[in-house]
Amino acid sequence: MTDDLQQMAERVAAHAHKQVPSALARLGEYLAIPAISCDPAHADDVARLAERVCADLRALGFDRARVLSLDGALPLVAAERSDADPSRQTVLIYGHLDLQPVAGENWSTDPHGATVRDGRLYARGAADDMGGWLSHLVALASWLEVAGTLPVNVRLVIEGEEEIGSPNLEAYMDAYPEAFEADVMVLTDCENPSTDIPGLTVSLRGLYEVELLCEALESDVHSGLWGNAAPDPGNALILLIARLLDDNGRLGVGRVDVPRSWCDSVTAVPLDDQVVRDGARLLDDVSPLPDDGRSIAEWLWRQPAITVLSTTFSRREDQKNAIRARASATLSVRLAPGQTHEQMRQLLEAVVLTDAPGGVRVSLIDCPGRAESWLYEPKGAAFEAADRAYRRAWGRSLVHVGIGGSIPFVALFGRRFANLPLILNGVMDPRTGAHGPDESMDLSVFEKTVAANVYLLAELAGIAAPV
Ligand SMILES: [Zn+2]
Repeated sequence: MTDDLQQMAERVAAHAHKQVPSALARLGEYLAIPAISCDPAHADDVARLAERVCADLRALGFDRARVLSLDGALPLVAAERSDADPSRQTVLIYGHLDLQPVAGENWSTDPHGATVRDGRLYARGAADDMGGWLSHLVALASWLEVAGTLPVNVRLVIEGEEEIGSPNLEAYMDAYPEAFEADVMVLTDCENPSTDIPGLTVSLRGLYEVELLCEALESDVHSGLWGNAAPDPGNALILLIARLLDDNGRLGVGRVDVPRSWCDSVTAVPLDDQVVRDGARLLDDVSPLPDDGRSIAEWLWRQPAITVLSTTFSRREDQKNAIRARASATLSVRLAPGQTHEQMRQLLEAVVLTDAPGGVRVSLIDCPGRAESWLYEPKGAAFEAADRAYRRAWGRSLVHVGIGGSIPFVALFGRRFANLPLILNGVMDPRTGAHGPDESMDLSVFEKTVAANVYLLAELAGIAAPV
């Protein structure tokens, strides 16, 4: 980066720092709109927020900001500004403006009224994800106010359906491909390992839901008369599920090799037994699962896992003395990053479709719930630029983290733009509590991320765009 640009970036960062209070006031206005995407009763709120954000982007200097729409989809805000030299990079910044619902949650403050307490801002969507993309808007506005121009070409895409799994995002990509054209993508909806350590997300586990079905009888029969002679589908189901588990109840099949270099890099992540105790709400006399030679980060982010979501076993009020004709369980398998549904299906088949207990008929039936896994190797000039930007703003390098859950939009970007640098970051931290009561954003994280975004634009300007 040239000295001029470096000095300008410092002036812009100083200006941006001063804009934080007014930005938080604006954030409060956005957060007051209950843009809950899963509830059709709030569709107008999603649309209203999209229009408001679009108007604010125009006022900020994004002349072509527009609200895009598709039949049956909630709106998506797109904007761009291309006043940098065409030889400069075009950066796409993604965020989402929709919210998770709050019904049934026990909030200590108004979920749709921003409240600042002890250095954190509380409201539904504060960190997931409005604070995330707002941190970019503050950086962009500051560049325009101080330098009069942006150092790179910028596109913004702010989605309205992320919290329902981005069902129409790919259709938007097909219908409006120009809105997504870029050299680098900054996807802002992820977590930092702590309020002091900035995170770069490089992997997601996938999701594969499958029904394991055991059948043996034409109808339920008396368990006293036929127990020990007739195969029992319920008992067979339990035995089959047990085959899939190790002695600690973890999924015992499909483990993957994780590179030593990755294992070394996550030792900086403050993820220990206490974090598991608190985060997973363990009872006092219960301990986290033993490490079995792997770090917690590896178990959570890089190895497959299994949970029984439901079974056809009777509820107590419906129980009767009978061997049931059939029994099934819906299994939720979290795929290791890079693992496919087909690979996991083959592994499960090898275990449960041979030597059925008691000779029952066993089948595996795919369920609708699924999401692709994602495994990414960040390398190249854009990531070096991002790391320099974060070192300046946060005082330390980005740590490569994973997410145990699945985020459909990330896998989608990963598939559609596999050859582009995808920088996944955000303003969440372990105390954020996204999707739960008292969601909050740490204000120091927001300030540091605003500064990192200011520097990131300057750093990316130092990289020539591919020709
Ligand atoms: Zn989100």
